Amino acid sequence: MIDWRELLMLRASRAMTTLRMDKLLRTRSTVHAFTEYFKGFERVNAVRRIFGEDTEEILKNLKVEFTWAGGYMWVNGANGHLMISSRYLNTGDKVDIYLDIIHELVHIKQFMEGKDLFDTHYGYSERPTEVDAYRHAVDEARNLGLSDKRICEYLKTEWMSDEDFKRLTKSMGFQCKSC
Ligand SMILES: [Zn+2]
Repeated sequence: MIDWRELLMLRASRAMTTLRMDKLLRTRSTVHAFTEYFKGFERVNAVRRIFGEDTEEILKNLKVEFTWAGGYMWVNGANGHLMISSRYLNTGDKVDIYLDIIHELVHIKQFMEGKDLFDTHYGYSERPTEVDAYRHAVDEARNLGLSDKRICEYLKTEWMSDEDFKRLTKSMGFQCKSC
């Protein structure tokens, strides 16, 4: 019997297969070229929808930093580097990581456009930059065939209040059971 997750993984892993964990674990320096670790993202439609014709150029110049600090991944507001927790990369769910990369690449685009990624005028789930990033990730999750239930699990994070979660899923156009 084929596990649906295996099928999903095969699709998601097209872009993840060459992630060189062994190298990552041996390397002490933390700043790297994104394309050194994340191969083939320039061919992913969801990524091309973010950057358009500039996809290759932008990914080629994108820097990624692996950090032992906790958390998941985020964009460094000072230099536009993609920050990824090594622990998350090594132990996190591969589909979650893939969707997080799509989410963060949207923030990279926003950062390049000079948008304030941490605009405190808005709550987290209402911030236009977040809604935009989540929308791209959710679209890709649906494209991968993830169920609404699985997408809800993906969206539910410990830093989001129930209110935030409800607002976010509503703006994504679906309701999660726990709402
Ligand atoms: Zn975000």
